[in-house]
Amino acid sequence: MRTRFAPSPTGYLHVGGARTALFCYLEARARNGVFILRIEDTDLERSTPESVQAILDGMEWLGLDYDEGPFYQTQRFDRYADVVQQLLDDGRAYHCYCSKERIEGIREEQMKAGLKPRYDGHCRDGAEAVAGVKPVVRFRNPHQGDVVFDDLVRGRISISNTELDDLVIARPDGSPTYNFTVVVDDMDMKVSLVIRGDDHINNTPRQINIYQALGAELPDFAHVPMILGDDGARLSKRHGAVGVLQYREDGYLPQALLNYLVRLGWSHGDQEVFSLQEMIELFDIRQVNRKASAFSTDKLDWLNQHYMKTLPPAEVAEHLVWYFEKAGINPEKGPSLADLVSVQADRVKTLREMTDQSRVFYEDIGDFDAGAAKKHLRPVAEQPLRAIGNRLADLEIWEPERLDQVVRITAEELEVGMGKIAQPLRVALTGTAISPSIDKTLWLVGRERSLARISRALEYVMARAAAV
Ligand code: GLU
Repeated sequence: MRTRFAPSPTGYLHVGGARTALFCYLEARARNGVFILRIEDTDLERSTPESVQAILDGMEWLGLDYDEGPFYQTQRFDRYADVVQQLLDDGRAYHCYCSKERIEGIREEQMKAGLKPRYDGHCRDGAEAVAGVKPVVRFRNPHQGDVVFDDLVRGRISISNTELDDLVIARPDGSPTYNFTVVVDDMDMKVSLVIRGDDHINNTPRQINIYQALGAELPDFAHVPMILGDDGARLSKRHGAVGVLQYREDGYLPQALLNYLVRLGWSHGDQEVFSLQEMIELFDIRQVNRKASAFSTDKLDWLNQHYMKTLPPAEVAEHLVWYFEKAGINPEKGPSLADLVSVQADRVKTLREMTDQSRVFYEDIGDFDAGAAKKHLRPVAEQPLRAIGNRLADLEIWEPERLDQVVRITAEELEVGMGKIAQPLRVALTGTAISPSIDKTLWLVGRERSLARISRALEYVMARAAAV
């Protein structure tokens, strides 16, 4: 059992590609098979090194590790040339000297007559070499019979050979074309299951004919349907992030994206949450729906929050490091990231938000938010701030439970509601009126910093009282 993911490096690793990669990976892992990564970079004009890197980074971030590869088609040109020669020698391919103008001409005529444009076979039975013209090589497609295959997703597919024409397998400069290289590679790499987007379904009969001409065993094929945006149109950049690494930038956990992707076109009862291990156990490419599935950012958000809350905080923290680095926050200068995650996970939707909302635990706070200070750091706040400051200064164990107790006791002693203490304290500690519960906020800000910030807020309150 051998599967492969064979992206063309002409853009980002997009969501559709990542889902294909995941399906290949799951099939291989579920059936003790081999998962191969092959970079289809023969289109020299459109392939870029950045895009190769984005594919490798995306696969790594998602944790889709492959057993063989990455292979690069550009490193296999000699092999393709040999196979082209073999087909020429066997009479399964031929040189074609038809000019572009001639090909254009027949295409126009066929279109006018309402026919599907196809090569008319002019050079099929022996063409005179034309001086100064480098020929293309065309595959001699059978004229009779049908190509029939049982797609694991789409069911039986049958195409008459009369629908197909003699496709170009090598260009005048000798460079091979997609439909040809893909067959040579899958044959050489002994791929037994081809999973790919159903935009390739029309290529498959052509490829099957090439397999047969080469005497190679056919793999199974599974063509997975495309992904639509929430508006029913094919998912594209217009719908926001479609590059996998953009989801990382935006603060999603790879576990959430994988879980989300596996559900695009596949289900297991009404289960929504799948660990990777469960996916491996339950996934079956034969159960993938043949209808297109729609992308929903809300659902992805829901899964992301689910994983932030339920994975061990230390595991989430490992991912958070990346965001801290990007935001220029030093995680050493505050609470452990695992502690931070345990508090913040159910307050935010993404790791990026978590990072944005956690700076105050690692860095000095600047000016108080004007509105929050105006409302909560008034002269009446002096007494509660002083009282809580004194008690906290005496507290030896800086744990949420103890901190909560101290706030309560102080409120009771002053005979005021908790809010009369918690709100000024919150503004003192974070500069804003919004933060986790006050005990957790104190805990994360830490002892020394909390005491210093309370003093600072007291100074502010007193200066304000004096100015009245
Ligand atoms: N390289 C092709 C693509 O990125 C996929 C080819 C295949 O999987 O057979 O669309």
